[in-house]
Amino acid sequence: MSIPTRNPRHNSGREGGGPGGPKRRYVRKKFCRFCAEKELQLDYKNVYMIKQFVSERGKIVPRRISGTCAKHQRKLTVEIKKARIVALIPFTATQVR
Ligand SMILES: [Zn+2]
Repeated sequence: MSIPTRNPRHNSGREGGGPGGPKRRYVRKKFCRFCAEKELQLDYKNVYMIKQFVSERGKIVPRRISGTCAKHQRKLTVEIKKARIVALIPFTATQVR
């Protein structure tokens, strides 16, 4: 996925506006996938779908990035946790130091 593992730097105040023109990165249309597609079932058994909302390190992608609405994000978290318990997705990165 194209979601960076590290958080972007916190910019207090406004963003961009420096010399060289404002740079836009990863401007994607954000919308709740579950609201858009009513058919899409939020289910822990649907690993391929769940995995899109979990980062490489096994963290749940925050909704300001994924664009999921509050209602579905809440449901999604529950499903992700279920999926973890039944070992469909990892709790964390498997790398052991
Ligand atoms: Zn929604």
